[in-house]
Amino acid sequence: MKVFNTLSRQKEEFVPLQEGKVSMYVCGPTVYNLIHIGNARPMVVFDTARRYMEHKGYAVNYVSNFTDVDDKIIKKANEEGVDPSVISERYIAECKKDMEALNVKPATVHPKATEEIDGMIEMIQTLIDKGHAYVAQDGTVYFKTRSFKDYGKLSHKNLDDLRSGERSLLVSGEEQKQDPLDFVLWKPKKEGEPYWESPWCEGRPGWHIECSVMSRKYLGEEIDIHAGGEDLIFPHHENEIAQSEAANDKEFAKYWMHNAFLNINNRKMSKSAGNFFTVRDISEKYDLQVLRFFMLSAHYRSPLNFSADLMEAAKNGLDRIVSCVGNLSFLMENAADGEMSVDERRLVEEAETYVTKFDEAMDDDINTADAISAIFELVKFTNTNVSEQSGKAFIRALKDEIVMLSDICGLIVDKKEEILETEIEALIQERQDARKAKNFARADEIRDMLAAQGIILEDTREGVKWKRA
Ligand code: AMP
Ligand code: ZN
Repeated sequence: MKVFNTLSRQKEEFVPLQEGKVSMYVCGPTVYNLIHIGNARPMVVFDTARRYMEHKGYAVNYVSNFTDVDDKIIKKANEEGVDPSVISERYIAECKKDMEALNVKPATVHPKATEEIDGMIEMIQTLIDKGHAYVAQDGTVYFKTRSFKDYGKLSHKNLDDLRSGERSLLVSGEEQKQDPLDFVLWKPKKEGEPYWESPWCEGRPGWHIECSVMSRKYLGEEIDIHAGGEDLIFPHHENEIAQSEAANDKEFAKYWMHNAFLNINNRKMSKSAGNFFTVRDISEKYDLQVLRFFMLSAHYRSPLNFSADLMEAAKNGLDRIVSCVGNLSFLMENAADGEMSVDERRLVEEAETYVTKFDEAMDDDINTADAISAIFELVKFTNTNVSEQSGKAFIRALKDEIVMLSDICGLIVDKKEEILETEIEALIQERQDARKAKNFARADEIRDMLAAQGIILEDTREGVKWKRA
């Protein structure tokens, strides 16, 4: 498997530090509001990378944080007159609901910044002791950027280029920095803000230090993959590297993966620009599986423009796979048991070529766009070659492959478990009523609809019975 590494700006063969294991850290959201669909892009694409690696047999240790101390959280808490934790806990819960609806697996650990303050103080102290950080007069602790010789290696910036922009870096209140390039590790509390005791002052951590600390605590000093949106490359990830490598004297992460932006009218979707849709907004119009499919229809390093047309195309695309699988479930019900015929066996072998295509696409830097095309080809092949005469084993083999590939993408296409008993009973009742009213078209429509979900109806003397295919 190859992944594009932002460090080298090249696709590299993926070789984990420990055979069979992957440690992966994905920077998570700041929780002061419902997440927008731009924030959902890294969640979906890196969840898919994780699923694929698990499919290949790796045990993946996946950590993703919640930033629960931040100016925006504090501002909102003050507006509502509540403690900041009320805001952060509310939006962590909402974010988890959105993740579940998008079929994003929970991380192995979801650490929160406010619960890791001790570790941050410890790492900051190490940086001070090693001469990589200093304490200013008011108790602010700064990282001494020039003390870390590799600074800029991720974003491919050099310190002299950064110097030319340094005037703008000297914002008011930061005059006490020894160098404009230095960044905050710890800052003194302000009135009305949450704070913690520290050796330097009562205050709170800077943003960058939290990921260095949580990554080390849950995954170790050296990890395989660190990921997030491309806006995090500079300064966030560059600063994380400086802190971690200066503190641990080890390479922080071997591979750095960054997703491109989700745009709207070719501009980055963001809360601050006001050009955003929340995941919740989209869920009012679409099943969120459609949003997931939409995200995966582009490669994660390509910008993706959100539009109503593309969402409709995604809906149709996903429907094609779901109806194919529903149809296979339906056909299986009446298909003959027994061994596959020679022809059927040959066709199943032929179908393997689409599975290989899928794997090749995913091995090529998680190219979900091409991987989904391979699923479509398999669906087309299946629709062409399966009929009412096909045997059950043959139908099942093709169905299992389509479901397996979709599942690697986190797409739920086998809907039979999805429909609830109460919904089935209600539809059966509606069909009975339609028949009584001699509306046979509607009655047949309901039967077909249920069949597509793998629900088989049987008219018996005792009434209508149903079972799952
Ligand atoms: P934030 O809450 O802004 O720190 O963002 C959480 C994650 O979402 C980070 O990995 C960001 O890079 C990512 N992100 C934010 N906006 C977008 C966007 N429009 N497109 C893709 N990723 C984004
Ligand atoms: Zn981070």
